[in-house]
Amino acid sequence: ISSVELTRQLLDRIKREDGAYNSFITVTEEEALADAKAADEQRATGKATPWTGVPFAHKDIFCTRGVRTTCGSKMLENFVPPYDATVTANFRRAGAVCLGKTNMDEFAMGSSTESSYFGATTNPWGEQRVPGGSSGGSAAAVAARLVPAATATDTGGSIRQPAALCGITGLKPTYGRVSRYGMIAFASSLDQGGTMARTAEDNAMMLNVMAGFDPNDSTSVDRIVPDYTASLDEPLKGLRIGLPKEYFSDQLSPAMEEQVRNAVREYEKLGATVKEVSLPDARLAIAAYYVIAPAEASANLSRFDGVRYGYRCEDPKDLMDLYTRTRAEGFGDEVKRRILVGTYALSAGYFDAYYLKAQKVRRLIQQDFISAFREVDVLMSPTSPSPAFRQGEKTNDPVTMYLEDIFTIAVNLAGVPAMSVPAGFVDGLPVGLQIIGDYFSEARLLNAAHQFQ
Ligand code: GLN
Repeated sequence: ISSVELTRQLLDRIKREDGAYNSFITVTEEEALADAKAADEQRATGKATPWTGVPFAHKDIFCTRGVRTTCGSKMLENFVPPYDATVTANFRRAGAVCLGKTNMDEFAMGSSTESSYFGATTNPWGEQRVPGGSSGGSAAAVAARLVPAATATDTGGSIRQPAALCGITGLKPTYGRVSRYGMIAFASSLDQGGTMARTAEDNAMMLNVMAGFDPNDSTSVDRIVPDYTASLDEPLKGLRIGLPKEYFSDQLSPAMEEQVRNAVREYEKLGATVKEVSLPDARLAIAAYYVIAPAEASANLSRFDGVRYGYRCEDPKDLMDLYTRTRAEGFGDEVKRRILVGTYALSAGYFDAYYLKAQKVRRLIQQDFISAFREVDVLMSPTSPSPAFRQGEKTNDPVTMYLEDIFTIAVNLAGVPAMSVPAGFVDGLPVGLQIIGDYFSEARLLNAAHQFQ
């Protein structure tokens, strides 16, 4: 099959089926067909990469030159970036064919893709069920077979939780492994671009394209990028698995726990050993994250002022009116909540009590992971506390929404890599197994996930 034929088929499918899911904000039909044609020509010359002509989609947080990039916000409804994110440029260079930009919670703040200015995304597995968030558009598009792969980002679980809720495989790499240049910033010390696809193998192929040092991102890490597909078939004999006891508490329903324990038994059959470990400070992760992430967000979002780019209110009276009305009209409720919390935590007199304290907790959490990885190779847990919940169920109570992140967020605070892998069903809805690794152990995580699939 040629890339043009494949691209056409998927574009038709998006047209026919995405009305039900709303997983795309923008479909770039013309660009995709032109890229597919170029890819077919490239393949005819014999100089193809594994990605030449392969269709995929970008989360609408990655800047795409000439194609509008909204970040799920009215603020950027008509923003057309003049440059590509490094991740975008990497896929372009590899010859991949981008079909469009996927839906997301506004500025990646959320766990259900309901805070998007462009309407909620629906989980293909259940009517009126959320796909998770914030990368719910990417997860739903892959689950609905509209694209074989999609980029995503994970600041506090936004790759792993939607991957779990949509029954697909997702990877959040080590902080610094993938460039953040051109990825619209939410909380810069936590944000990390990553991968979503059906299988671990496809995730490995994506990471091969995405990972690497970038002089345009001062926190990207200059370290060799292995071929992540090379070690997928390594046997797992002797793999040491740790089960953090704090993640198997009463908060976890027996049905969810059973699925995870079944998965762990499969690993034992593959030759792995299992022991209980402890992450004593993990219970503080949500509290620390919901200080640190809003604090950074409040600073990052100060650039949306109606002056430089993005939404601008009509007929401002003066400069102050321009700022306040632009931001009042351009941001949604959750974004405003984060800005308020963040500026409060950073303000003189409260800084030490909240922000500084949260940073100290963050260091303790990091130490917990470092200690655990002295004893074991990987940690396993559920990805989310429950399968996909109903749309509207948590929108009026931010704290219950924040609790969706209970198993994912400590990983971001520590900066270690983690995956979510499909691990059965609860109430007919998919659930995920989370596999957490030490810094830069992506190849091992992908290997472990691949052997399970
Ligand atoms: N649910 C978390 C939040 O709302 C995580 C979001 C993310 O990872 N982008 O902040």
